[in-house]
Order: sequence, then structure tokens, then C-alpha cells
Amino acid sequence: MLTNSRWKRALAAGLLAAAAAFGPIGSDPASILFRLGPGDAEAAKPLSVITTTQDLASIAADVGGDRVRVESLTKGYQDPHFVDAKPSYLLKLRKADLFVEVGRDLEIGWVPGLLQSAGNPKIQPGGRAFVDASNGVQVLELPTSVSRAEGDVHPLGNPHYWLDPANGLVIAANIRDALMRVAPNEGAYFTQRYTAFESRLRAKLGEWKKEAASIGLAGSQVVTYHRSWPYLAKAFDFQVLNYVEPKPGVPPAPRHIQELTAEMKARKVRLLIVEPYFDPKLPAQVARNAGSTLVILPPSVGADPEATDYFKLFDVQLGLIRSALATGAGS
Ligand SMILES: [Zn+2]
Repeated sequence: MLTNSRWKRALAAGLLAAAAAFGPIGSDPASILFRLGPGDAEAAKPLSVITTTQDLASIAADVGGDRVRVESLTKGYQDPHFVDAKPSYLLKLRKADLFVEVGRDLEIGWVPGLLQSAGNPKIQPGGRAFVDASNGVQVLELPTSVSRAEGDVHPLGNPHYWLDPANGLVIAANIRDALMRVAPNEGAYFTQRYTAFESRLRAKLGEWKKEAASIGLAGSQVVTYHRSWPYLAKAFDFQVLNYVEPKPGVPPAPRHIQELTAEMKARKVRLLIVEPYFDPKLPAQVARNAGSTLVILPPSVGADPEATDYFKLFDVQLGLIRSALATGAGS
């Protein structure tokens, strides 16, 4: 197999031969190569960006435009806390030009081992092509003391920060900066793409906030299964009263379920939000007994067939909440 530079030399030699045989296309061989731009495979090849989640992939695709080829290791319907790393992930990481993770230990169970085995120094933590997308995010639920008794999933604060659209801008800025480190010549392009993403997201955020108010989500109290939603609650001004899962990663005990049901009845909680990767049987029973409506909400791009990008994720969530609140109101 020819290496890249040998291939280029061979191509140039071939073009020279062609020019000699059929007459000049340009005045010198360099201009021939210039016109046949795609022949310069190095410059035309998009950067390979590997992300842990589809949310990050969607944002990276927006900021990177046609200069990147983005792939997420997981699908949005998978539980990002617990992922079975496949050998194919290693191949992707080995060839990656940029790696983006959610951070805050969300992927602690599966990413560190993968990065160690990938044999790609630039995407190691601290490397110029490694992106912790949580840099600069105002993290919620930072524990004052880390103890196993508090549950062991979120010791660095709540990592579900992509669910506040405002944090989408922080993620996008982190990705922009990393792309500029990896491909400094494309800085103006990435800056312009980021600016377009920012104005589109700010406009949509205004619409979403209005919608959250008009459907009765803003100002309401809800119960959720896992602690995935404090950032969404902050963005759309609702309150998460309690959780089906009492502590992150700890399955609910019968006594907790009884108390939770009583609390939901007393507070007239209308919505019980569940992530799609938990068994809905128990939460459905809780919702029924409490006179509340169960809604299975996609926490990520790809977790619902219609949530195909970061913008549609919030459209789909608000649509599902609107339907659930309308159903509950009539019962
Ligand atoms: Zn979590």
C-alpha cells in the first residue's frame, strides 16, 4: 500500500505524464495540481471527530460543518452511565482527530480504559485533541462530601448538563476551540459556524421558554426517575420534587415508593418523567396510584426517532410534555 506522500508523488508524476501526452492544461505542474484540488487528499480529508454521545455529535457537526466527519460511540437510547465498550470503539478512537466526552465522570465506567488502549496520544486527557465538553459549565448538585452512602454515580456534580440549552453554547465553544487547535488554518470557518449555531440556539431558547410557560410546565412540580433533569428544570423554570430512584444508581425500595406516591398525591404532581432506558413498569404504577401522568422523555439526541439533532431534542421533549399535561388535565 502506498503511503500518503508516495501516493501524492505518484499522482503528480502521472499528471505530468498526462500533461506531456495531451498538451498542457496549465502553465506548470503545480497549477495542474491546484486545479485538481481533490487530488490533494490531505487537505480535503475531513477531521474525524469521535464523541461519546449523540448530543455532542450533533453540536460538533454543527460547529465543524463540512470540515469534520462526526461519529458518536453510543446511541441516545443507551444509558450513558453504563456502556459495554466494543472493539470497534477502539478502532474509531485510534484514528480520531478529536475526541469529545460529556465529562463530570458520566463515562467513568467505560471511557478511561478505552482511551488507554486506543494508542492515540493526542486524545488522552490533557492532550490537544481531547475535549471535556463540561469545561466552563455551571455544574449543579455538586456534593459537599463524596460518600458511597450518597450513591456513587455523580461525585463531580450532575453530569446531565447538556439538557439546559444554554449549556449547548458552552459545549459548542469547547468544540470550536479544540477544532481550532487541531486545524488552526480553519479558525475563521469554525468561528463563523459557532456564531451561526449560537444565534440559532438563542432564538430557539426564547421560543422553548415561551412554550414551557404556555403548556403549564413552567412553575410546576414534577417527579423524575433518575436525576437527569435538573438542568432542563432550570432552563424551563420547573421544580423536580423527588425521584423514583432515591439515590443515583440505587434501585427503589418499597417504602420509598409508598412515601413518594403519598407525596405526589398530596402535592398534586401531574408529571412523572422517566428516561427510556429504565423499566417503566414501576414508575407507571406509581403514576397511576398518584393520579399523575407518566411521560417517557428522551434525554438525548437519538433517544426518540424524531429527536434527530440537538434542536429537535427540545422540540420533542416539549411536545411530549404538552401531550402528557393535556391528557392528565382531562382525567
Ligand atoms: Zn446520571
